[in-house]
Amino acid sequence: MNKLIVFIIAISMNTQLSISQSTNKEKFDRLPLGSIKPSGWLKAQMKKDMEGFVGNLDKLVPGLINDPIYGSSRLQKHSKAKDLGNLKEGDAEGDDQYKWWNSETQSNWWDGYIRNAILLEDKAALEKVKKYIYNILATQDADGYLGIYDKELRYKFNSENGELWAKTTLYRSLLAYYEFTRNHNVWQAIIKAVDNVMQNYPLNQSQPFAVGTAFSGGVAHGLTFTDILDRMYQLTGDKKYWDYALFLYRNFSDNYSSEKDVQLKNILNPDYKFQSHGVHTYEHLRPLIVAAYASNNVELQKALSIYLARIVRSTTVTGGPIGDEWIAERQADETHTGYEYCSIHELLDSYTVLLQKGGDSKTADQIETIFYNAAQGSREPKHSCIAYLKTDNSYEMQGTKNGEVEPNRKQTRYKYSAVHQDVAVCCAPNAGRISPYFIQSSWFKEDDNLLVAAILCPTILKTTIKNVPVKISEITEYPYSNQFVFKIELEQPISFKIKIRKPEWADSVVTKEPYTLENGFIIINRKFAKTDAIRLEFKTPVRIKENLNHEKYFNYGALVYAKSIESTQLIGKGYRADFFDLMYKPQNHVQYRYVENNIATYNAGKISLQLENKNTNKIERIELTPFSKTILRQVTF
Ligand SMILES: [Zn+2]
Repeated sequence: MNKLIVFIIAISMNTQLSISQSTNKEKFDRLPLGSIKPSGWLKAQMKKDMEGFVGNLDKLVPGLINDPIYGSSRLQKHSKAKDLGNLKEGDAEGDDQYKWWNSETQSNWWDGYIRNAILLEDKAALEKVKKYIYNILATQDADGYLGIYDKELRYKFNSENGELWAKTTLYRSLLAYYEFTRNHNVWQAIIKAVDNVMQNYPLNQSQPFAVGTAFSGGVAHGLTFTDILDRMYQLTGDKKYWDYALFLYRNFSDNYSSEKDVQLKNILNPDYKFQSHGVHTYEHLRPLIVAAYASNNVELQKALSIYLARIVRSTTVTGGPIGDEWIAERQADETHTGYEYCSIHELLDSYTVLLQKGGDSKTADQIETIFYNAAQGSREPKHSCIAYLKTDNSYEMQGTKNGEVEPNRKQTRYKYSAVHQDVAVCCAPNAGRISPYFIQSSWFKEDDNLLVAAILCPTILKTTIKNVPVKISEITEYPYSNQFVFKIELEQPISFKIKIRKPEWADSVVTKEPYTLENGFIIINRKFAKTDAIRLEFKTPVRIKENLNHEKYFNYGALVYAKSIESTQLIGKGYRADFFDLMYKPQNHVQYRYVENNIATYNAGKISLQLENKNTNKIERIELTPFSKTILRQVTF
């Protein structure tokens, strides 16, 4: 008998070995954080954010940001749930999540702050960041533990906890800081901290996700510890990090979770529909991608494609994924399914991982759709604040979803705030992360001779090709214009290739450059002079498309267009300085109906067309503006 058991163990160990050895090759390599900086309108917007909600959140909710939860105030057995200043009305998830919550708030906020500071070369902010990093590193125990629990509690849970999640949010910013500074102490701290997790939850011999059958949202967030492992694998080439990520995904799949959409049995069940908390569902795409690549397992790859199709069904035409807050088996609807800013960020981030590993130009189209439409369209265009929840067709923003009454919840999320403390301070920090994460995936290297402009946006890239320093300034008003100049500066003339994504909406490319077209990318392969340039323009007509409910909407280039609705601003809760919650009441209730003979034409940033006024049944000539610059609006007709 004993021999048989030993034999079975040997077989299963062999299987694991063979899995870890046959990983899937990643298509693109990420450039270190700081290699790609914003320019043009995007830089101006990020600067405004740093002067506004991103740069000031620590002053607006000092109690949440300054709670020394990783240090002197680590959680102990008898720690009470913290008062976060929120309403908690209609919360059925219990109080345990409020114990770890400040770790998410502060680490996600710092992650956005650090990345903005680096990309904007903001010296004062970088000084503040340096102090924060050294304070955090000082909380690390001798054994490497860097987290929010005291010795009695850590790694010994049978219910809701934030062990891996508090680490994930913190280590993401440590990695960002390390990539920018190459600071040896920071790197050693990260290695020791990750090793500490892998020692205390040993691979295939522990159950980090076996925590009972009650609500476990924090534990489920912790599955994104694979973000850390994936980047560690890329930075070190050590497969142990990918093997561990695969183990985490498998263990999560095999245990009960209140956030079950990504569990393998549910993905492979053809009758299953997404039902979990939206943010979890979209962030869990990343562990699934990493598991599929780490294992090269056919079943996981199949699961990945099923999961991606389910996400498409959950996403509105602007890229807004259902997240208001549970998906509850619904299909995306531009009027009735709201999306949380956190969901927008998490889905965008997950798609950037898919783009980096798979290299599919269509993934980049999805990323641009989210960033240039849903994400921009959830920002208040003039003030520094964002919507916690938003719908594509947005007929009022006074707290509720287009006036709907929710029986079990006092809904206050449909408004603009720099904080949203009455609900949770999650969306404001994530709204500060999204631009740096977007920019970080705009350029990749495919090999040492090939640069890829995967996502189009105004940036300045500094890297090397065959050890020669290269600077490429992507000068453009995109997506508000479809013209580009890639200004190239080299230390010496060299030959190399540049791949520029041709967006799926582009009918044609206007350029004097000789190029070939391959899988949705324009490839330019020539010798570049010390000072050189590539000029190109993408041509497109106004496109009339259909949503899942067969309503029509209008695109021009990367932008969705909407009929803006005149509104009256109402001022809500005031924080310090000039930060106020803002609400919007419509000045009219006119909606429009699509007509076939609409004669839609594009001119100078607007689409002019004919639509039928639903009140009068008369045809009117109206103008649509970029969805990204609207507050109240109708987008589907
Ligand atoms: Zn949120």
